[in-house]
Amino acid sequence: MHHPDPHSYYDSSQPKARRLRLKLGVDFAAKRLEGEVVLEFGGEVKGALDLDTKGLDIRGVQVPGHGPVPWELGEPDTILGSRLRIDAPEGTREIAITYATSPEAMALQWLDPEQTEGKVAPYLFSQCQQIHARTMVPCQDTPVVRVAYHAEVTVPEGLTAVMSAGPAGDEATRDGRHVFRFLMPQNIPPYLLALAVGRLESRDLSPRARVWAEPETVEAAAWEFAGVEDMILKAEALFGPYPWDRYDMLVLPPSFPYGGMENPRMTFLTPTLLAGDRSLVDVVAHELAHSWTGNLVTNASMEHFWLNEGFTVWAERRILRILHGDDAAALGWAMGQKALEDSLDRFKNEPHLTVLRLHLEGIDPDDAFSSIPYEKGARLVAALEREVGEDKFLRFIRDYIDAFRFTSITTEQFCAFVEAKLPGALAAVNARAYLDQPGMPATAPTFRSAQLDALTALANSWVDGGRPSARQIATWKASELQVFLQKLPRQLTREDCAWLDEHFQLMGRGNYEILVDWLTLAATADYEPAFPRLREVLLRVGRMKYLRPLYGALGQHPRTRALAREIFAAASPGYHGLSRRVVQSVLEAYPA
Ligand SMILES: [Zn+2]
Repeated sequence: MHHPDPHSYYDSSQPKARRLRLKLGVDFAAKRLEGEVVLEFGGEVKGALDLDTKGLDIRGVQVPGHGPVPWELGEPDTILGSRLRIDAPEGTREIAITYATSPEAMALQWLDPEQTEGKVAPYLFSQCQQIHARTMVPCQDTPVVRVAYHAEVTVPEGLTAVMSAGPAGDEATRDGRHVFRFLMPQNIPPYLLALAVGRLESRDLSPRARVWAEPETVEAAAWEFAGVEDMILKAEALFGPYPWDRYDMLVLPPSFPYGGMENPRMTFLTPTLLAGDRSLVDVVAHELAHSWTGNLVTNASMEHFWLNEGFTVWAERRILRILHGDDAAALGWAMGQKALEDSLDRFKNEPHLTVLRLHLEGIDPDDAFSSIPYEKGARLVAALEREVGEDKFLRFIRDYIDAFRFTSITTEQFCAFVEAKLPGALAAVNARAYLDQPGMPATAPTFRSAQLDALTALANSWVDGGRPSARQIATWKASELQVFLQKLPRQLTREDCAWLDEHFQLMGRGNYEILVDWLTLAATADYEPAFPRLREVLLRVGRMKYLRPLYGALGQHPRTRALAREIFAAASPGYHGLSRRVVQSVLEAYPA
């Protein structure tokens, strides 16, 4: 018996599923998916087969052509869920499981009509990363078991289903519902299974790119992301032809807990990216870059998550540099540095979570989630790039993607490949310090530009009365203002806050990165005029990246702590389960 992934019951001595055939009905009243999955195996399954499940109601297991077969559900583990052990008779090549999901399934958020833009129809979306596919489908829920899939999803009439797959037809059913079919012909790790159902419309952005959203936001989304084809072309110039046929995007309701999720053929995005000025499309560059790093070459388990995210952050800034120049990339690295420092601070008493090569036995990967695999990982990739030179490194990246396409790999496999292709480079950049030692190596690359230096100097002069000039106030781009706000002293006075708001009109910003950085400063300063806007943002948006600093900043003063608890009580039912957990952990850390 061998379990290569500490977050899965998958036993590598047993055959791997190669394809899933899903047939699911979406029941909004019961908040359940109900139906069947057929797992197809490459070879014969004989004897015990172990699958991951969490909260699933397993109703029966059959082997087609044979009939019902024995199965048992193990004791539930808080992190892993329950092992489903099936006793497969000789000659088994397919296993059919009928089941229903739980209304509490972590992968699925069921929204009432009031939680959507249109407020007329319910909405469902999935989020299977890190290890939540098992709350939606019984499967070998580890990235090393890559599966193609076919799905039939039946939804109430008037609603549309989309998945991380190509559409394969739809029609009305005889009982007045509507069935949508999907085909994902390529192998993906189970965490990239994705489904959303709602009142959806789409707009074409190019022959291969389309954006989906509720009718109320679809025009704004089409405008905001109009440049996506250009981004795809730039990414292809770096990493080779786009491997997934279509690049479609779905703009979700505001409770979506992440900025984006790189579901193949259907990137999921938070509506907080709709800034109205195209200033936040770097998240799209990031999700797009995952088409190569993450979706094509995938981490073997969450212990190697940096292979997905470190490469993708590096790739995202490489794309930004081509699109918008060196200064824009330097500002991107500076914002990343801030996120990195915040995460290192959060884990100052858990240094084992600040290494890249993680050891997560007994640890929930959602609790280990931070900016560290993203930003520390990207700095290791950038260090290697600087060591060998840009051209040589780009050739290496293309070789790397070619060598491991459609596979899921470990840090050790990555290191062996680097050693073979770029001998000595790992030692030259002291890769071990990134991979296995806490914190940041002193030799980590830094990213500077004259513009960034000037912004830093101006922010540092704040306590001595330094202020942006009228010209700067009028001409700064969103990213410049954001970096300036991030570089300001964390503890401002109420007068400082009033000055900033008056000159930059911060309260009314549509760019959530700026708005949240501002509200974090204002909350830390106990600046009462910001409270109504804070409440509004926290009641509307469930993106964890924003909830953590805002609730954290509210912990500084008795009055703001009371405000935070009051807002959370009202907002919590609308938050995704993942977001709720993050806020609870922040509130628990408040002083008594
Ligand atoms: Zn990512």
